Amino acid sequence: MTSGVIAWQIETPGGGIVLDPGLSPNDAETMGFTGFDKAGMATVDDWMDQAELILFSHAHVDHVGRFLDYPRFDDIAGKALITPGMLGGINALWRENGSHIKKTRKLAQIEAVAPGVVVIQTPGHTPASQMVYVQLASGREYIFTGDTASLAANFARATPRSRLLSDILVPEDRPAVIAWVKGLRDVKERNKALVLLPSHDVEWVQQNAENIGIVRQFGRKSGGNR
Ligand SMILES: [Zn+2]
Repeated sequence: MTSGVIAWQIETPGGGIVLDPGLSPNDAETMGFTGFDKAGMATVDDWMDQAELILFSHAHVDHVGRFLDYPRFDDIAGKALITPGMLGGINALWRENGSHIKKTRKLAQIEAVAPGVVVIQTPGHTPASQMVYVQLASGREYIFTGDTASLAANFARATPRSRLLSDILVPEDRPAVIAWVKGLRDVKERNKALVLLPSHDVEWVQQNAENIGIVRQFGRKSGGNR
């Protein structure tokens, strides 16, 4: 079982939307990742440069770390959609650039933020966690589940992250997370073509990349970006 950090780019005519740009080499070391894909990070940096919008599932360091450490932070900060609750999480990381974020945007429970892109507030893993629903021009639908379901097994079996992870390493609102993963399972049962994308399941994503319409992927197995 390989757990890794996955960064996503949704292609759009305006330069793309980046979701969860991952973490910095220092963060990866601190978190105990065995490998770090610097070329992958450079690609994600380019994505952020070109992006029209940068989204985060939540404000943990493996999802916002690289954004906060980005060398030309002030050039890209304005593209990031950061809710007030998420800014609280970012400030808790004590990164210099966090204090440069001047603009937050409060979102409705379910709010479209770009054509075919809807952000859903799903508090539980963190108070300001959110999932991102995407419908491509082809009609294909996706939900990026964030760490509410970091592994495909979480929604397949409708169970949350292991107790060790959720209670000790990362305290989370477990009943809320269980409710969300059950909801994901039910939605998937009703709409089998819907693709649920777990946040850290590198193996599952690699195995299913072709079937689920991922056009290109890179990175290596542990600690890499994609
Ligand atoms: Zn994570």
